[in-house]
Amino acid sequence: MEKLTKSDLDRYDRQIIIEEIGRQGQEKLKNARVTIVGAGGLGSSVSMYLVAAGIGEITIIDGDSVSLSNLNRQILHGESAIGKSKVESAIRRLKDINSDIIIKGICDKVTDDNVLALMADSMAIIDCLDNFLTRFILNRAALKLEIPLFFGACYGFEGRVSVIIPGKTPCLECLLKSIPPPEKVPVLGATPGVIGAIQATEVIKYFIGIKPTLAGKLLLYDGKNNMYETIEISRDPDCRACGTSHGRRNE
Ligand SMILES: [Zn+2]
Repeated sequence: MEKLTKSDLDRYDRQIIIEEIGRQGQEKLKNARVTIVGAGGLGSSVSMYLVAAGIGEITIIDGDSVSLSNLNRQILHGESAIGKSKVESAIRRLKDINSDIIIKGICDKVTDDNVLALMADSMAIIDCLDNFLTRFILNRAALKLEIPLFFGACYGFEGRVSVIIPGKTPCLECLLKSIPPPEKVPVLGATPGVIGAIQATEVIKYFIGIKPTLAGKLLLYDGKNNMYETIEISRDPDCRACGTSHGRRNE
């Protein structure tokens, strides 16, 4: 277990004085390793807050490069990064925020074939994607590796967040029975800012052990009407990913 340094105590001072965090909590964050899948709108918000908060090691995965139409919401990247890989641009920005963090970048698309190898060393997966096909791949990997999955999604002014703890909560496929067809998703830039910040808060709470969390719940955010609602979600016993008749329990 890595201890806090003098510089850590200074950098994270405002966080350490939060009663629920303290030095112990900060040390837990320093020893956490997470994988962020997607360096877009959600990935921008999540990665910057987690790096700033002192999560010890962060791997960020994205196979795309930066384009002009990304810039309304993907605040990791600026105009000077257009045409460059998102991962390269993300690492440069994140290192500038906090050079004490181990930041690894993987410029690749997550697939059924590579997901387990990519996530094997991680203590948590953070879903910052914009498509459900890859989300379902992450969900099954989280179940197999028995590590939590922090789900986040945006659509226009609206967003969703949930925390999936394998063996304890319903999984993403319990929540969504089928994969919605791919489409160009409308997004107000501030929506992934809000949703990513909530995901980052849940990740920090998970590692420190603060409750209540969104484990087993779905947060519905409606920015247009300024409404937040949290609903309980239930496990589908016939779920193709985690259900007793199909899932890993029979493997
Ligand atoms: Zn399930």
